[in-house]
Amino acid sequence: MAITEYECPACGGTMAFDAQTQMLKCEYCDTQIKVSDYVAPHKPGPEATAANEWQASETEGMYVYSCQSCGGEIIADETLGASQCPFCGNNVVMKDKFEGGLKPDYIIPFRKTKEDAMNTYRNYVKGKALLPKVFSAENHIDKIRGIYIPYWLYDSDLQADIAYEATKIKSWSDGDYNYTDTSYFEVLRSGSESFEHVPVDASKEMPDDLMESIEPFDFNDVQPFNGGYLAGFLANKYDVEEGASRERARQRVKQQISYDFRNTVRGYSTVREVNKNIRERSFSHKYALYPVWILNTTWRDNHYMFAMNGQTGKFLGNLPSDKGLAIKYYLAFGFGLSIIVFIINMIVGIF
Ligand SMILES: [Zn+2]
Ligand SMILES: [Zn+2]
Repeated sequence: MAITEYECPACGGTMAFDAQTQMLKCEYCDTQIKVSDYVAPHKPGPEATAANEWQASETEGMYVYSCQSCGGEIIADETLGASQCPFCGNNVVMKDKFEGGLKPDYIIPFRKTKEDAMNTYRNYVKGKALLPKVFSAENHIDKIRGIYIPYWLYDSDLQADIAYEATKIKSWSDGDYNYTDTSYFEVLRSGSESFEHVPVDASKEMPDDLMESIEPFDFNDVQPFNGGYLAGFLANKYDVEEGASRERARQRVKQQISYDFRNTVRGYSTVREVNKNIRERSFSHKYALYPVWILNTTWRDNHYMFAMNGQTGKFLGNLPSDKGLAIKYYLAFGFGLSIIVFIINMIVGIF
C-alpha cells in the first residue's frame, strides 16, 4: 500500500510540517510550501502501488511499507498512520490509514514546536524537588514526540427541564434565644443548549482523563484534513469505534447542561435538584486529528506521562516523587497538621 513521503522538490531532502510558519519546510534548503500546494516530485514506484503487496505484507496486525527513497522496510502496527523511515529519516504518511471512510473531517495543526514542549517540560520538572534524576535528563527530554491523536467530535442539541428546591435562611438572636427562619422556594428552569465539537479521544493507548485535562482545543484553527500536516510527526488512526465513544460524549454534555442551568439559580441559601428531564434533539459526530506532545517514561515498573496540547500549550503530567524523601516530608507535615486539629478540638470543647 502506498505511502506518501514529503520529499523536497528543490533538493530531495526531508520536508516536515513547521508549527511556526504553518508550512511544509525542507530541513536542508529551507524551501517552504503551503500544505495544500504540495505535489510529490516523483510518482510512487510500481511496487508501492501494487494492491497485492499490501495483502502479502500484513501479518498479525503488523504492516510493512517500503520506503520509496531508500527501499528500506517500515514496519507499523494497525493504527500507525505517520512516522519516519528508520533508515533514511524521510517523513512518511501511510495514506491508506486516512483515506476513504477513514479520512478525518478535520485536523488542528501543531502550533507549538518541539522546543516549546521541551521548555515547558523543563520548567515543570524544575519545581519538583522530589523528582528522581532520570526524569530531568536531557537525553530523556529529547524523546518528547509530537503525535496527532484521533478524536470523535460530537454536536448535540439538548432540551432540559430542571426543578430545584431552594431555601433562604435568616438567623438572628435576642440574647436568650437563637432564631432561624427558613423560606422554601420551588425554582424551575427550562430551555435548550447546543454543544459543538465535544471531543472524545478515539485512541485506546491514551488515557481519557489525561486527554480531557489538556482540553480545550480551539476549533477556530481547524483545517480540512491534509496528510501534509502529519509530515514529521506521528499519527494514529482511531482504534476506538465511534459507537463506543458516544456514551462518554452524551454524559459530558448532560453534565454540562445541568451545571449551566444550576448556575442560573442564584441568591438562595441552599439549592437542591429535585427533578430533571433532559431530551436530545439532535446528535451527530465528525472525525478529527488533534496535536499533542507526549513524553512517556517507565520507572520502577510504573508508567508516567507528560502531555501537552500541541495547539495551546496546556499540559499535564503525573510524575512520581522519591519515596524516601516523600515520607520525610509527609511526617513533618503530618505533625503540624495534628497540632492544628488538637487546638480546634480544645476550642470546640470550651464553648
Ligand atoms: Zn530542500
Ligand atoms: Zn527510507
